[in-house]
Amino acid sequence: MPRSLEDNVNFYFDRAAGSSGHPKGLLDQIRACNGVHAFQFPLRHADGRIEVVRAWRAEHSHHRLPTKGGIRYSAAVDESEVKALAALMTYKCAVVDVPFGGAKGAVQVDPHARSVEELERITRRYTHELAKRNLIGPGLDVPAPDAGTGEREMAWVADTYAAFNPGQLDAMACVTGKPVTEGGIRGRKEATGRGLVYALKEACSQADDMKALGLPVGLEGKRIVVQGFGNVGYYTAKLCREQGARVIAIAVPEGAIVDATGLDEDAVIAHRKATRSILGFAGATSLARSTDALEIDCDVLVPAALENQLTADNAPRVRARIILEGANGPTTAEADEIFRAKGTLVIPDIYANAGGVTVSYFEWLKNLSHVRFGRLEGPDELRTVNSGLERTMAIAYQEIRETLGRQPGLQYLRTAAFLTAINKVARAYLELGIFP
Ligand code: NAD
Repeated sequence: MPRSLEDNVNFYFDRAAGSSGHPKGLLDQIRACNGVHAFQFPLRHADGRIEVVRAWRAEHSHHRLPTKGGIRYSAAVDESEVKALAALMTYKCAVVDVPFGGAKGAVQVDPHARSVEELERITRRYTHELAKRNLIGPGLDVPAPDAGTGEREMAWVADTYAAFNPGQLDAMACVTGKPVTEGGIRGRKEATGRGLVYALKEACSQADDMKALGLPVGLEGKRIVVQGFGNVGYYTAKLCREQGARVIAIAVPEGAIVDATGLDEDAVIAHRKATRSILGFAGATSLARSTDALEIDCDVLVPAALENQLTADNAPRVRARIILEGANGPTTAEADEIFRAKGTLVIPDIYANAGGVTVSYFEWLKNLSHVRFGRLEGPDELRTVNSGLERTMAIAYQEIRETLGRQPGLQYLRTAAFLTAINKVARAYLELGIFP
Protein backbone atom coordinates (compact mmCIF):
# COMPACT_ATOMS: atom_id res chain seq x y z
CA MET A 1 0.00 0.00 0.00
CA PRO A 2 1.38 3.45 -0.86
CA ARG A 3 2.29 5.57 2.08
CA SER A 4 0.04 8.49 2.96
CA LEU A 5 1.29 12.06 3.27
CA GLU A 6 1.16 11.57 7.04
CA ASP A 7 3.42 8.50 6.75
CA ASN A 8 5.83 10.43 4.53
CA VAL A 9 6.05 13.39 6.92
CA ASN A 10 6.63 11.06 9.86
CA PHE A 11 9.26 9.16 7.86
CA TYR A 12 11.16 12.42 7.23
CA PHE A 13 10.79 13.36 10.88
CA ASP A 14 12.12 10.00 12.12
CA ARG A 15 15.01 10.01 9.66
CA ALA A 16 16.18 13.36 11.05
CA ALA A 17 15.22 12.72 14.69
CA GLY A 18 17.53 9.71 14.76
CA SER A 19 20.58 11.98 14.68
CA SER A 20 19.18 14.71 16.97
CA GLY A 21 20.28 13.24 20.30
CA HIS A 22 17.04 14.37 21.99
CA PRO A 23 15.29 11.97 24.40
CA LYS A 24 12.55 9.82 22.88
CA GLY A 25 9.75 11.36 24.96
CA LEU A 26 10.57 14.86 23.77
CA LEU A 27 10.72 13.71 20.15
CA ASP A 28 7.39 11.89 20.58
CA GLN A 29 5.81 15.13 21.82
CA ILE A 30 7.22 17.20 18.94
CA ARG A 31 5.97 14.63 16.39
CA ALA A 32 2.47 14.12 17.83
CA CYS A 33 -0.54 16.09 16.61
CA ASN A 34 -1.80 17.86 19.76
CA GLY A 35 -5.40 18.08 18.61
CA VAL A 36 -7.55 17.29 15.62
CA HIS A 37 -11.11 18.55 15.49
CA ALA A 38 -13.59 17.06 13.04
CA PHE A 39 -17.02 18.53 12.47
CA GLN A 40 -19.89 18.33 10.04
CA PHE A 41 -22.43 21.00 9.17
CA PRO A 42 -25.44 21.28 6.89
CA LEU A 43 -25.59 23.25 3.65
CA ARG A 44 -28.98 23.99 2.15
CA HIS A 45 -29.11 24.13 -1.65
CA ALA A 46 -31.36 26.38 -3.75
CA ASP A 47 -33.69 23.41 -4.47
CA GLY A 48 -34.14 22.77 -0.75
CA ARG A 49 -31.83 19.72 -0.66
CA ILE A 50 -29.59 19.50 2.41
CA GLU A 51 -26.00 18.35 2.14
CA VAL A 52 -23.75 17.47 5.06
CA VAL A 53 -20.28 19.00 4.68
CA ARG A 54 -17.23 17.53 6.45
CA ALA A 55 -14.51 19.78 7.83
CA TRP A 56 -11.46 19.72 10.11
CA ARG A 57 -8.96 21.83 11.98
CA ALA A 58 -5.78 20.19 13.23
CA GLU A 59 -3.50 21.96 15.70
CA HIS A 60 -0.26 20.06 15.59
CA SER A 61 1.88 21.94 18.10
CA HIS A 62 1.22 24.54 20.79
CA HIS A 63 4.87 25.16 21.70
CA ARG A 64 4.26 28.66 20.29
CA LEU A 65 0.95 30.51 20.08
CA PRO A 66 -1.02 31.25 18.03
CA THR A 67 -0.97 28.18 15.85
CA LYS A 68 -0.99 28.94 12.14
CA GLY A 69 -1.91 27.17 8.93
CA GLY A 70 -3.98 27.42 5.78
CA ILE A 71 -7.49 26.25 4.99
CA ARG A 72 -7.77 23.78 2.09
CA TYR A 73 -10.92 23.23 0.02
CA SER A 74 -10.72 19.89 -1.78
CA ALA A 75 -13.07 17.00 -2.47
CA ALA A 76 -10.27 14.53 -1.72
CA VAL A 77 -9.03 15.89 1.60
CA ASP A 78 -9.27 13.70 4.73
CA GLU A 79 -8.29 13.86 8.39
CA SER A 80 -4.90 12.22 7.93
CA GLU A 81 -3.95 14.75 5.23
CA VAL A 82 -4.94 17.67 7.47
CA LYS A 83 -2.82 16.30 10.33
CA ALA A 84 0.17 15.85 8.02
CA LEU A 85 -0.17 19.38 6.63
CA ALA A 86 -0.43 20.75 10.18
CA ALA A 87 2.78 18.95 11.15
CA LEU A 88 4.56 20.43 8.12
CA MET A 89 3.45 23.88 9.34
CA THR A 90 5.11 23.34 12.73
CA TYR A 91 8.42 22.41 11.09
CA LYS A 92 8.13 25.17 8.48
CA CYS A 93 7.52 27.92 11.04
CA ALA A 94 10.49 26.67 13.06
CA VAL A 95 12.80 26.63 10.01
CA VAL A 96 12.10 30.30 9.20
CA ASP A 97 11.83 31.41 12.85
CA VAL A 98 8.20 32.46 12.62
CA PRO A 99 6.99 32.19 16.24
CA PHE A 100 3.85 30.12 15.61
CA GLY A 101 2.80 26.53 16.23
CA GLY A 102 1.58 24.50 13.25
CA ALA A 103 -2.06 23.99 12.24
CA LYS A 104 -4.16 23.25 9.16
CA GLY A 105 -7.82 23.30 8.24
CA ALA A 106 -9.87 21.76 5.49
CA VAL A 107 -13.36 21.53 4.09
CA GLN A 108 -14.22 18.52 1.96
CA VAL A 109 -15.67 20.30 -1.08
CA ASP A 110 -14.53 20.83 -4.66
CA PRO A 111 -14.41 24.64 -4.89
CA HIS A 112 -14.59 24.54 -8.70
CA ALA A 113 -17.93 22.73 -8.56
CA ARG A 114 -19.53 25.32 -6.24
CA SER A 115 -21.13 28.71 -6.81
CA VAL A 116 -19.58 31.77 -5.18
CA GLU A 117 -22.68 32.08 -3.05
CA GLU A 118 -22.29 28.50 -1.77
CA LEU A 119 -18.59 29.03 -1.10
CA GLU A 120 -19.41 32.09 0.96
CA ARG A 121 -21.96 30.23 3.06
CA ILE A 122 -19.57 27.30 3.53
CA THR A 123 -16.73 29.61 4.56
CA ARG A 124 -18.86 31.60 7.01
CA ARG A 125 -20.27 28.44 8.58
CA TYR A 126 -16.81 26.86 8.83
CA THR A 127 -15.54 30.02 10.60
CA HIS A 128 -18.52 29.85 12.95
CA GLU A 129 -17.67 26.21 13.77
CA LEU A 130 -14.05 27.23 14.49
CA ALA A 131 -15.15 30.16 16.68
CA LYS A 132 -17.50 27.96 18.73
CA ARG A 133 -14.59 25.68 19.59
CA ASN A 134 -11.99 28.41 20.28
CA LEU A 135 -10.10 27.30 17.17
CA ILE A 136 -9.72 30.79 15.72
CA GLY A 137 -8.45 34.06 17.18
CA PRO A 138 -5.44 36.39 16.95
CA GLY A 139 -3.73 34.67 19.90
CA LEU A 140 -5.20 31.19 19.45
CA ASP A 141 -5.13 29.91 15.88
CA VAL A 142 -4.81 32.00 12.73
CA PRO A 143 -5.82 30.50 9.36
CA ALA A 144 -4.55 31.53 5.91
CA PRO A 145 -5.16 30.47 2.28
CA ASP A 146 -4.16 27.07 0.95
CA ALA A 147 -5.11 25.09 -2.17
CA GLY A 148 -8.67 25.95 -3.20
CA THR A 149 -8.93 29.14 -1.11
CA GLY A 150 -7.59 32.68 -1.52
CA GLU A 151 -8.06 36.30 -0.53
CA ARG A 152 -11.80 36.22 -1.05
CA GLU A 153 -12.33 33.37 1.44
CA MET A 154 -9.99 35.01 3.97
CA ALA A 155 -12.07 38.23 3.79
CA TRP A 156 -15.19 36.16 4.59
CA VAL A 157 -13.38 34.50 7.52
CA ALA A 158 -12.31 37.90 8.93
CA ASP A 159 -15.78 39.38 8.53
CA THR A 160 -17.49 36.41 10.20
CA TYR A 161 -15.03 36.39 13.09
CA ALA A 162 -15.47 40.15 13.61
CA ALA A 163 -19.25 39.71 13.68
CA PHE A 164 -18.88 37.21 16.54
CA ASN A 165 -16.46 39.44 18.43
CA PRO A 166 -17.82 42.97 18.26
CA GLY A 167 -15.38 45.63 19.35
CA GLN A 168 -12.41 43.30 19.54
CA LEU A 169 -9.61 45.62 18.50
CA ASP A 170 -7.35 42.87 17.16
CA ALA A 171 -10.05 40.94 15.33
CA MET A 172 -8.39 41.51 11.92
CA ALA A 173 -5.40 39.47 13.09
CA CYS A 174 -7.59 36.33 13.30
CA VAL A 175 -6.69 35.36 9.71
CA THR A 176 -4.00 36.28 7.15
CA GLY A 177 -3.93 36.36 3.37
CA LYS A 178 -6.73 38.95 3.33
CA PRO A 179 -7.12 41.45 0.49
CA VAL A 180 -4.96 44.54 1.03
CA THR A 181 -8.12 46.65 1.24
CA GLU A 182 -9.43 44.47 4.12
CA GLY A 183 -6.45 44.41 6.44
CA GLY A 184 -4.11 42.37 4.24
CA ILE A 185 -0.50 43.22 3.48
CA ARG A 186 1.13 44.08 0.18
CA GLY A 187 3.18 41.15 -1.13
CA ARG A 188 1.26 38.33 0.63
CA LYS A 189 -0.48 37.04 -2.50
CA GLU A 190 2.80 36.40 -4.30
CA ALA A 191 4.82 35.61 -1.15
CA THR A 192 5.00 31.83 -1.48
CA GLY A 193 6.20 32.08 -5.09
CA ARG A 194 8.60 34.88 -4.22
CA GLY A 195 9.98 32.87 -1.29
CA LEU A 196 10.49 29.89 -3.61
CA VAL A 197 12.50 32.03 -6.01
CA TYR A 198 14.60 33.46 -3.16
CA ALA A 199 15.22 29.88 -1.98
CA LEU A 200 16.27 28.86 -5.49
CA LYS A 201 18.55 31.90 -5.73
CA GLU A 202 20.25 30.88 -2.48
CA ALA A 203 20.72 27.31 -3.69
CA CYS A 204 22.01 28.40 -7.11
CA SER A 205 24.53 30.78 -5.56
CA GLN A 206 26.43 27.90 -3.87
CA ALA A 207 29.31 27.37 -6.29
CA ASP A 208 30.26 23.92 -4.91
CA ASP A 209 26.71 22.60 -5.13
CA MET A 210 26.22 23.90 -8.67
CA LYS A 211 29.54 22.38 -9.74
CA ALA A 212 28.49 19.01 -8.36
CA LEU A 213 25.24 19.25 -10.34
CA GLY A 214 27.02 20.35 -13.52
CA LEU A 215 25.11 23.66 -13.57
CA PRO A 216 26.33 27.26 -13.80
CA VAL A 217 25.98 29.48 -10.73
CA GLY A 218 22.90 31.77 -10.61
CA LEU A 219 19.33 31.73 -11.87
CA GLU A 220 20.03 33.26 -15.28
CA GLY A 221 19.11 30.89 -18.11
CA LYS A 222 17.95 28.02 -15.83
CA ARG A 223 15.29 25.89 -17.53
CA ILE A 224 12.26 25.57 -15.25
CA VAL A 225 9.26 23.22 -15.35
CA VAL A 226 6.27 24.18 -13.16
CA GLN A 227 3.50 21.75 -12.17
CA GLY A 228 0.34 23.52 -10.99
CA PHE A 229 -0.69 26.95 -12.20
CA GLY A 230 -2.61 28.30 -9.22
CA ASN A 231 -1.32 30.85 -6.73
CA VAL A 232 2.05 29.22 -6.07
CA GLY A 233 2.74 27.98 -9.62
CA TYR A 234 1.77 31.22 -11.32
CA TYR A 235 3.86 33.53 -9.14
CA THR A 236 6.83 31.17 -9.17
CA ALA A 237 6.75 31.11 -12.98
CA LYS A 238 6.41 34.89 -13.13
CA LEU A 239 9.26 35.65 -10.74
CA CYS A 240 11.56 33.00 -12.26
CA ARG A 241 11.10 34.64 -15.68
CA GLU A 242 11.69 38.09 -14.21
CA GLN A 243 14.95 36.80 -12.70
CA GLY A 244 16.20 35.66 -16.09
CA ALA A 245 15.25 31.96 -15.90
CA ARG A 246 13.21 30.28 -18.66
CA VAL A 247 9.92 28.54 -17.86
CA ILE A 248 9.96 25.80 -20.51
CA ALA A 249 6.83 23.89 -19.40
CA ILE A 250 3.68 24.37 -17.35
CA ALA A 251 1.54 21.39 -16.28
CA VAL A 252 -2.11 21.58 -15.23
CA PRO A 253 -4.61 18.74 -14.60
CA GLU A 254 -5.75 18.58 -18.25
CA GLY A 255 -2.24 18.41 -19.76
CA ALA A 256 0.89 20.51 -20.22
CA ILE A 257 2.46 23.02 -22.60
CA VAL A 258 6.14 23.03 -23.54
CA ASP A 259 8.24 25.71 -25.22
CA ALA A 260 12.03 25.51 -24.98
CA THR A 261 12.34 29.24 -25.70
CA GLY A 262 10.35 30.09 -22.57
CA LEU A 263 6.69 30.77 -21.73
CA ASP A 264 5.21 34.08 -20.66
CA GLU A 265 2.87 33.27 -17.76
CA ASP A 266 0.53 36.24 -18.35
CA ALA A 267 0.09 35.36 -22.03
CA VAL A 268 -0.74 31.80 -20.90
CA ILE A 269 -3.32 33.15 -18.44
CA ALA A 270 -4.89 35.30 -21.17
CA HIS A 271 -5.07 32.23 -23.44
CA ARG A 272 -6.68 30.20 -20.63
CA LYS A 273 -9.24 32.96 -20.03
CA ALA A 274 -10.16 32.99 -23.70
CA THR A 275 -10.27 29.21 -24.29
CA ARG A 276 -10.75 27.79 -20.72
CA SER A 277 -7.53 25.74 -21.06
CA ILE A 278 -3.80 26.37 -21.33
CA LEU A 279 -3.55 23.68 -24.01
CA GLY A 280 -3.18 24.95 -27.58
CA PHE A 281 -1.12 27.96 -26.45
CA ALA A 282 0.46 29.54 -29.55
CA GLY A 283 4.06 28.45 -30.23
CA ALA A 284 4.02 25.71 -27.56
CA THR A 285 3.68 21.94 -27.87
CA SER A 286 0.69 20.57 -25.95
CA LEU A 287 1.03 17.31 -23.99
CA ALA A 288 -2.14 15.36 -23.29
CA ARG A 289 -0.65 13.69 -20.20
CA SER A 290 0.10 16.23 -17.52
CA THR A 291 2.53 13.92 -15.71
CA ASP A 292 4.82 13.71 -18.79
CA ALA A 293 5.92 17.26 -17.99
CA LEU A 294 7.57 16.02 -14.78
CA GLU A 295 10.02 13.96 -16.85
CA ILE A 296 11.12 16.71 -19.26
CA ASP A 297 14.83 17.45 -19.44
CA CYS A 298 15.22 20.63 -17.35
CA ASP A 299 17.36 22.20 -14.64
CA VAL A 300 14.65 22.88 -12.06
CA LEU A 301 11.35 21.08 -11.51
CA VAL A 302 8.83 22.96 -9.35
CA PRO A 303 5.96 20.73 -8.16
CA ALA A 304 3.44 23.41 -7.09
CA ALA A 305 0.15 21.53 -7.24
CA LEU A 306 -0.45 18.80 -4.68
CA GLU A 307 1.17 16.15 -2.51
CA ASN A 308 2.50 12.77 -3.69
CA GLN A 309 3.31 13.77 -7.28
CA LEU A 310 6.89 12.47 -7.37
CA THR A 311 6.74 8.77 -6.61
CA ALA A 312 8.78 5.57 -6.81
CA ASP A 313 7.23 5.13 -10.25
CA ASN A 314 8.30 8.37 -11.95
CA ALA A 315 11.29 9.45 -9.81
CA PRO A 316 13.81 7.31 -11.78
CA ARG A 317 12.75 9.11 -14.97
CA VAL A 318 12.82 12.65 -13.51
CA ARG A 319 15.75 14.42 -15.19
CA ALA A 320 15.70 17.73 -13.28
CA ARG A 321 18.92 18.38 -11.33
CA ILE A 322 17.07 20.54 -8.79
CA ILE A 323 13.60 20.00 -7.32
CA LEU A 324 12.08 23.08 -5.71
CA GLU A 325 9.10 21.96 -3.62
CA GLY A 326 6.34 24.56 -3.99
CA ALA A 327 3.57 22.20 -2.90
CA ASN A 328 3.47 20.63 0.53
CA GLY A 329 4.64 17.02 0.44
CA PRO A 330 4.98 16.63 -3.35
CA THR A 331 7.65 13.91 -2.96
CA THR A 332 6.91 10.50 -1.45
CA ALA A 333 9.47 8.92 0.87
CA GLU A 334 10.37 6.31 -1.78
CA ALA A 335 10.95 8.99 -4.43
CA ASP A 336 12.97 10.98 -1.93
CA GLU A 337 15.36 8.06 -1.44
CA ILE A 338 15.74 7.79 -5.23
CA PHE A 339 16.56 11.51 -5.54
CA ARG A 340 19.01 11.24 -2.66
CA ALA A 341 20.78 8.36 -4.39
CA LYS A 342 20.81 10.20 -7.73
CA GLY A 343 22.32 13.33 -6.17
CA THR A 344 19.34 15.51 -7.12
CA LEU A 345 19.25 18.73 -5.08
CA VAL A 346 15.84 18.68 -3.40
CA ILE A 347 14.99 22.04 -1.81
CA PRO A 348 12.42 20.78 0.70
CA ASP A 349 8.90 22.16 1.20
CA ILE A 350 9.38 23.02 4.88
CA TYR A 351 11.96 25.56 3.79
CA ALA A 352 11.18 26.33 0.14
CA ASN A 353 7.50 27.28 0.42
CA ALA A 354 7.80 29.06 3.79
CA GLY A 355 7.51 32.48 2.13
CA GLY A 356 3.73 32.41 2.54
CA VAL A 357 3.77 31.94 6.30
CA THR A 358 6.63 34.40 6.68
CA VAL A 359 4.62 37.20 5.06
CA SER A 360 1.50 36.04 6.91
CA TYR A 361 3.51 36.70 10.09
CA PHE A 362 4.20 40.25 8.83
CA GLU A 363 0.48 40.67 8.13
CA TRP A 364 -0.41 39.49 11.64
CA LEU A 365 2.11 41.95 13.14
CA LYS A 366 0.70 44.74 10.99
CA ASN A 367 -2.86 43.96 12.16
CA LEU A 368 -1.79 43.90 15.81
CA SER A 369 0.15 47.17 15.50
CA HIS A 370 -2.73 48.83 13.64
CA VAL A 371 -0.19 50.67 11.50
CA ARG A 372 0.76 50.03 7.89
CA PHE A 373 4.47 49.21 7.47
CA GLY A 374 6.20 52.27 6.05
CA ARG A 375 3.74 54.76 7.51
CA LEU A 376 5.83 55.53 10.56
CA GLU A 377 9.25 54.49 9.33
CA GLY A 378 11.31 54.35 6.09
CA PRO A 379 10.41 52.72 2.79
CA ASP A 380 7.03 51.55 1.60
CA GLU A 381 5.24 48.42 2.75
CA LEU A 382 5.97 46.22 -0.27
CA ARG A 383 9.71 46.92 -0.13
CA THR A 384 9.77 46.24 3.61
CA VAL A 385 7.89 42.97 3.13
CA ASN A 386 10.00 41.72 0.24
CA SER A 387 13.31 42.57 1.86
CA GLY A 388 12.18 40.94 5.12
CA LEU A 389 11.21 37.84 3.16
CA GLU A 390 14.49 37.73 1.25
CA ARG A 391 16.50 38.04 4.46
CA THR A 392 14.41 35.35 6.14
CA MET A 393 14.94 32.89 3.29
CA ALA A 394 18.68 33.61 3.13
CA ILE A 395 19.21 33.17 6.89
CA ALA A 396 17.16 29.95 6.98
CA TYR A 397 19.16 28.47 4.09
CA GLN A 398 22.43 29.25 5.87
CA GLU A 399 21.13 27.65 9.07
CA ILE A 400 20.14 24.48 7.23
CA ARG A 401 23.56 24.34 5.58
CA GLU A 402 25.23 24.84 8.95
CA THR A 403 23.28 21.87 10.33
CA LEU A 404 24.45 19.92 7.31
CA GLY A 405 28.03 21.05 7.93
CA ARG A 406 27.92 19.99 11.59
CA GLN A 407 26.63 16.54 10.67
CA PRO A 408 28.03 15.65 7.25
CA GLY A 409 26.52 12.19 7.69
CA LEU A 410 23.15 13.75 6.85
CA GLN A 411 24.21 14.59 3.31
CA TYR A 412 20.78 15.83 2.44
CA LEU A 413 18.99 19.16 2.66
CA ARG A 414 15.60 17.74 3.68
CA THR A 415 17.06 15.82 6.60
CA ALA A 416 19.05 18.89 7.64
CA ALA A 417 15.92 21.08 7.40
CA PHE A 418 13.93 18.64 9.57
CA LEU A 419 16.77 18.42 12.09
CA THR A 420 16.99 22.23 12.22
CA ALA A 421 13.24 22.38 12.90
CA ILE A 422 13.34 19.61 15.51
CA ASN A 423 16.17 21.34 17.38
CA LYS A 424 14.30 24.65 17.45
CA VAL A 425 11.01 23.15 18.64
CA ALA A 426 12.88 21.07 21.24
CA ARG A 427 14.61 24.20 22.53
CA ALA A 428 11.27 26.03 22.74
CA TYR A 429 9.73 23.19 24.75
CA LEU A 430 12.67 23.03 27.14
CA GLU A 431 12.93 26.81 27.58
CA LEU A 432 9.22 27.12 28.24
CA GLY A 433 9.38 24.37 30.83
CA ILE A 434 6.11 23.31 29.31
CA PHE A 435 5.97 19.82 30.74
CA PRO A 436 3.69 19.44 33.76
P1 NAD B 1 -4.27 26.65 -5.87
O1 NAD B 1 -5.56 26.00 -5.61
O2 NAD B 1 -4.21 28.13 -6.12
O3 NAD B 1 -3.52 25.95 -7.10
C1 NAD B 1 -3.28 24.58 -7.21
C2 NAD B 1 -3.27 24.29 -8.69
O4 NAD B 1 -2.79 22.96 -8.92
C3 NAD B 1 -4.65 24.39 -9.32
O5 NAD B 1 -4.60 25.31 -10.38
C4 NAD B 1 -4.93 22.97 -9.81
O6 NAD B 1 -5.63 22.96 -11.03
C5 NAD B 1 -3.54 22.43 -10.00
N1 NAD B 1 -3.46 20.97 -9.97
C6 NAD B 1 -4.14 20.10 -9.21
N2 NAD B 1 -3.78 18.83 -9.52
C7 NAD B 1 -2.88 18.91 -10.50
C8 NAD B 1 -2.15 17.96 -11.25
N3 NAD B 1 -2.30 16.64 -11.03
N4 NAD B 1 -1.29 18.40 -12.20
C9 NAD B 1 -1.14 19.71 -12.44
N5 NAD B 1 -1.80 20.67 -11.75
C10 NAD B 1 -2.65 20.27 -10.80
O7 NAD B 1 -3.33 26.26 -4.63
P2 NAD B 1 -1.96 26.94 -4.16
O8 NAD B 1 -2.27 27.89 -3.07
O9 NAD B 1 -1.17 27.38 -5.35
O10 NAD B 1 -1.26 25.68 -3.47
C11 NAD B 1 -0.54 24.71 -4.22
C12 NAD B 1 0.34 23.91 -3.28
O11 NAD B 1 1.21 24.81 -2.59
C13 NAD B 1 -0.40 23.14 -2.19
O12 NAD B 1 0.32 21.95 -1.91
C14 NAD B 1 -0.33 24.06 -1.00
O13 NAD B 1 -0.44 23.37 0.22
C15 NAD B 1 1.06 24.63 -1.19
N6 NAD B 1 1.30 25.90 -0.51
C16 NAD B 1 0.51 26.99 -0.72
C17 NAD B 1 0.79 28.18 -0.07
C18 NAD B 1 -0.01 29.43 -0.31
O14 NAD B 1 0.36 30.49 0.22
N7 NAD B 1 -1.05 29.42 -1.11
C19 NAD B 1 1.85 28.26 0.83
C20 NAD B 1 2.66 27.12 1.01
C21 NAD B 1 2.38 25.96 0.34
